[in-house]
Amino acid sequence: MALTLTLLGTSASRPTVERNVSSMALTRDGDTMLFDCGEGTQRQMMRYGVPFALGDIFFTHFHADHVIGVIGLMRTMALQGRTEELRLWGPPPAARHLRRAEQFGVDRLTFPVRIHELQPGERIPRRDYAIVAFAVEHGPGAAMGYALVEEERKGRFDPERARELGIPEGPLWGRIHRGESVTLDDGRVVEPAELVGPLRSGRTVVITGDTRPSENTVAAARGADLLVHEATFGDEEAERAVETGHSTAREAAVVARRAGCKRLLLTHFSARYSRSAGELETQARAEFDAVTIGRDGMEIEVPFTA
Ligand SMILES: [Zn+2]
Ligand SMILES: [Zn+2]
Repeated sequence: MALTLTLLGTSASRPTVERNVSSMALTRDGDTMLFDCGEGTQRQMMRYGVPFALGDIFFTHFHADHVIGVIGLMRTMALQGRTEELRLWGPPPAARHLRRAEQFGVDRLTFPVRIHELQPGERIPRRDYAIVAFAVEHGPGAAMGYALVEEERKGRFDPERARELGIPEGPLWGRIHRGESVTLDDGRVVEPAELVGPLRSGRTVVITGDTRPSENTVAAARGADLLVHEATFGDEEAERAVETGHSTAREAAVVARRAGCKRLLLTHFSARYSRSAGELETQARAEFDAVTIGRDGMEIEVPFTA
């Protein structure tokens, strides 16, 4: 089952010619969800093939470069006659900010909008995964990151062993794989442990939004398959990163290393850095090897590792 992250905007504060402001889409088994929705996000979605038929938008915080795009996006959804509910999630005061966005320039929405204010640690359960909110550190207002955490998957079924035991291929295999013990025609009872391996871990993707390096991120991203961390600045702006509640690329890489992440994707770059942001990559790589500099339109597949 594919789990794909698409970066829709990778610039901090304002767009540049090459980079739009913050937004990314996660797509999993037909579910698409957005994380942040900076100005111009709807056009980026068209450009990079992200469907408008999404159910959830998660906001990391309510700085303008992460939220203004939701006004235009909801308006387009209404023009298209959308009727399905749209759920908007974020830290307090999400309701105040998002009600305003809902009213602004959108006279008649054709669909219900449900706004949920989240507390750190809150878990939004879905069929076989959950979105978990965690507090990050981005100045005085509330800001949060999100982790998509998949449930464990069934262990591997051993078809050769099943044949050796004379269990006919078919529905019995499925029942054993689901954890049932079955009785064969000759009276033998087969326990699932004989044929099915241990549970296999699901995937975890963690998105920080804007933040200083945070212990909460280290905890949320422990062993994560993919950590998407902001990297607004390079080493030479380390003080500015502290003052403005942001991270340097190197600091983000240290978080990834400490958390034991498999892969780090950097985003939210100050407009001062070039398209390749080569110096940020070098600085990050000094701390953590598996790092990728994000760019608009980049798609990252997150594979199963077990
Ligand atoms: Zn920002
Ligand atoms: Zn911010």
